[in-house]
Amino acid sequence: MSEARTGTTRPDAIVVGAGVGGLAAATALHRRGWAVVVLERAPVIEPIGAGIAIAPNGLRALDTIGVSAAVRSLAAINGSAALRRPDGRLLAPTSGAAFVERFGEPMILAERAELMRVLIAALPEGTLRTDAAVLDVDPGDADRRASVTTSAGTLSADVVVAADGIRSVVRRTLFPRHPGPSYAGFTTWRAIVPGREFTPGETWGRGRVFGAMPLADGRVYWYASANRPAGTTHGDERAELLRLFGDWHAPIRQLIESAAAERILHLDVHAMAEPLPAHHVGRTVLLGDAAHAMTPNLGQGGNQALEDAVEVADVLSAATADTVVDALPGYTERRLARTTAIVRASRRMGAMAQWESPVAVAVRDALLRAAGRFAPDAALRPLDDVLAWRPPVSAFPGSS
Ligand SMILES: Cc1cc2nc3c(=O)[nH]c(=O)nc-3n(C[C@H](O)[C@H](O)[C@H](O)COP(=O)(O)OP(=O)(O)OC[C@H]3O[C@@H](n4cnc5c(N)ncnc54)[C@H](O)[C@@H]3O)c2cc1C
Repeated sequence: MSEARTGTTRPDAIVVGAGVGGLAAATALHRRGWAVVVLERAPVIEPIGAGIAIAPNGLRALDTIGVSAAVRSLAAINGSAALRRPDGRLLAPTSGAAFVERFGEPMILAERAELMRVLIAALPEGTLRTDAAVLDVDPGDADRRASVTTSAGTLSADVVVAADGIRSVVRRTLFPRHPGPSYAGFTTWRAIVPGREFTPGETWGRGRVFGAMPLADGRVYWYASANRPAGTTHGDERAELLRLFGDWHAPIRQLIESAAAERILHLDVHAMAEPLPAHHVGRTVLLGDAAHAMTPNLGQGGNQALEDAVEVADVLSAATADTVVDALPGYTERRLARTTAIVRASRRMGAMAQWESPVAVAVRDALLRAAGRFAPDAALRPLDDVLAWRPPVSAFPGSS
């Protein structure tokens, strides 16, 4: 790594972090003609063994950067799904057809590893540098290129795109007084297990949620959440899950039992309680969880990172090395209010799903049942603004 320009007259960018957001941003900038390097702290890319729901807004972002055909071919279309009570009683049905009619695209479910493989394959060889942890950033300004310090040296660029996730070092450097994400009050477990007969959807109990969805190859991705103090762990998380969900409707017990205990991912949920003042400083932008970590209840964390990637590349599309600083406020303008609203909506949804009080849960379930009966689209309506996002018209003419 060197401090000098990379020997090209094209503008250049350093992307910090090779998660969904960083890889999508790198692909989007590369397609816009930028020279890009992605610095990833991990020695090898080992995507976590879980599924990811890609919503219509995320699919449109993937369309724009030219990889949606590959992702769609590896994903399962999430057809009809149901919201149930732990005894199996239906609270609200949703139909895949109604979803597509409303939003123009299906919700698809991909294995994270597949999504990452597609995004990495879209980048020119040599773009991704692993074992390259960023330790510090100088955000740069109108007269000074941005730079990052890694254990292997310093690298500078016209733009730094920080996609370094929920514990972002770059966010802490740019906004040292911001409190960062805080614990949302519940923990999650995720696993991928061999296929079996089941109805896709979620089951809501008191302070607990269990969900299951099919993957394209027939296996099942399931996730669960429960209220508990931050940092609580159990020697055997599967035994804990069986204690929490073992008497819920079939085949929840069997889905949990068919997961290898050591392959169950356990993660406390943290989310931004307070938005950042901006999503850029100087020549550096934040995207994805680094900018707006949210609870998983709307399934939007990754989808918003994909939107960010398209928007930042669009904002920079006409910029030169000299005009980047004038262009980046446009990114904050496009993203801050929208992502703040989605972070808050997701937290509200999470709080309702995790209610514990028997009275509150009874009222919630009665309202959900009534809404499902009298206004079948009631479950989809809150998603209207979230899923309506479309790429800017100027983005990527000629993309698939
Ligand atoms: C239970 C659960 C279920 C979810 N389900 C969905 C879903 O269905 N759909 C959806 O859209 N979202 C979902 N999400 C949210 C989604 O996982 C995240 O929002 C998304 O992964 C964020 O992507 P990112 O690229 O911003 O960050 P990450 O995926 O966290 O990637 C950050 C990358 O940066 C690297 N990194 C960190 N620090 C440094 C450093 N200093 N230097 C270099 N590299 C660094 C990390 O190693 C990592 O590779 C879910 C989350 C949870 C917890």
